[in-house]
Amino acid sequence: MRNYDNFINGEFTPSTGRQRITCINPSTGDAICTVPDSSQADVDAAVAAAEAAQNEWARRPAVERGKVLRAIAAKILENVEPLARIITEEQGKILDLARIEVAFTAEYLCYMAEWARRIEGEILESDRPGETIFLFRQPIGVVGGILPWNFPFFLIARKAGPALVTGNTIVIKPSEETPHNAVKFCELASEAGLPPGVINVVHGRGATAGKALASSPRIGMISFTGSVETGSAIMAAAAPNITKVNLELGGKAPAIVMADADIDLAVKAIKDSRIINSGQVCNCAERVYVQQNVASQFVDKLTAAMQSARYGDPLADPSVDYGPLINQAGFRKVDALVRGAEAAGATVVTGGKRGVGDGGYFYEPTVVTDCRQGMEIVRREIFGPVIPMVTFQDLDEAIAFANDSDYGLTSSIYTRDLDVALRACQEIRFGETYINRENFEAMQGFHAGWRKSGIGGADGKHGLYEFTQTHVVYLQRR
Ligand code: NAD
Repeated sequence: MRNYDNFINGEFTPSTGRQRITCINPSTGDAICTVPDSSQADVDAAVAAAEAAQNEWARRPAVERGKVLRAIAAKILENVEPLARIITEEQGKILDLARIEVAFTAEYLCYMAEWARRIEGEILESDRPGETIFLFRQPIGVVGGILPWNFPFFLIARKAGPALVTGNTIVIKPSEETPHNAVKFCELASEAGLPPGVINVVHGRGATAGKALASSPRIGMISFTGSVETGSAIMAAAAPNITKVNLELGGKAPAIVMADADIDLAVKAIKDSRIINSGQVCNCAERVYVQQNVASQFVDKLTAAMQSARYGDPLADPSVDYGPLINQAGFRKVDALVRGAEAAGATVVTGGKRGVGDGGYFYEPTVVTDCRQGMEIVRREIFGPVIPMVTFQDLDEAIAFANDSDYGLTSSIYTRDLDVALRACQEIRFGETYINRENFEAMQGFHAGWRKSGIGGADGKHGLYEFTQTHVVYLQRR
């Protein structure tokens, strides 16, 4: 078993702390590697390295910064297979999805590099004679990035890509569940010529390394992806320093199936979205609303589709559709929501049990009908291969159900009627709506949640500018 260190100022650097975390393969329970549970001093050292590197990095033309991102992307593309295996081993997604994640990460870095020649300020008309007003977009300085485990490799790029091209340097804390891919990222970035201090990675738990990073007075922004509860803790940690927060939090995406929908298309899209990454995706269909008069047909087809999904250890059997849940806590949460729904009067049509597998946290593909809006399974993020279903009478009721949520990340509707689709777009209060399909989002879009799903967002022009601050200059002619 390998023991890995933090990556600070371009070097793998031993932690000053004594605690180590063992990373586990969720399919087998086997130990993979250890990383430090970094101390305050480690985080401070990483922030200091990022701070020291930032001025020189920001002075480079953006296009030169973009070249570094492209060089890292090229290295990633030379290593798709080993990277995919690392991700599958520590996170449990199937190899095909891990390969997609790796390739998408490289593409994302290249996409962000393209922005180098497109970062724009503004020239504003002044009220005073002989004066010109310039609005510049400047880097924030040092950005902190705290990551979840579900798309661990891609999320490094989603934070570092926009941060670096706009002239910031970054300190990243990967999830303690999935640190290995981040170690590999650092190795490849180093080989690609990343200047020391521009990307730093500190490993550790949320309560230690994560909290130290979020509460550092020397970072200008903390960009976090993870749960609502942790987002709230991060806001609290950032508050004393008035540090800007960018939060990509959980979701409880409603999928509305109208009676006029292409039912086969809806069944396939919802089933695929619910088993991809074992249902552990922030924007996959988390609750399904189906119009009463097609409900029985829809349930039959969806049940058959879910029953056809095969799960297992993706490294032992690359043909499975999905792997294990990430850990025991994730497994218990999913199972408790299914048991709670049953106790409250819902019907488990298929699944609802631990899946077979030696030591892995597998959960059967599950369909739960007769759910009501007030049930926990309809209100809380499940993060597992479980579909709770509620029926509705008409579009008004469906929209009211969809909007009745603390979450506001993504949503979907299945219909052939353009008027219905348009009304849903106008009245569904979510950051994203997919019509006649499910996730994923595009890198040129803007992935941003309403309500408790987040503050700010990621991707595209709007995501890029989250990593900048404005500087307005008044130039008075004498
Ligand atoms: P999590 O909130 O448990 O942990 C995320 C990260 O925060 C980890 O690195 C963890 O160590 C760290 N952390 C925990 N407590 C902390 C604290 N007090 N201070 C600082 N850092 C702390 O989330 P998770 O279980 O890793 O990920 C799953 C969640 O992420 C789901 O809710 C999912 O919806 C969400 N997610 C959202 C998006 C999005 O784009 N909106 C994308 C992916 C995942």
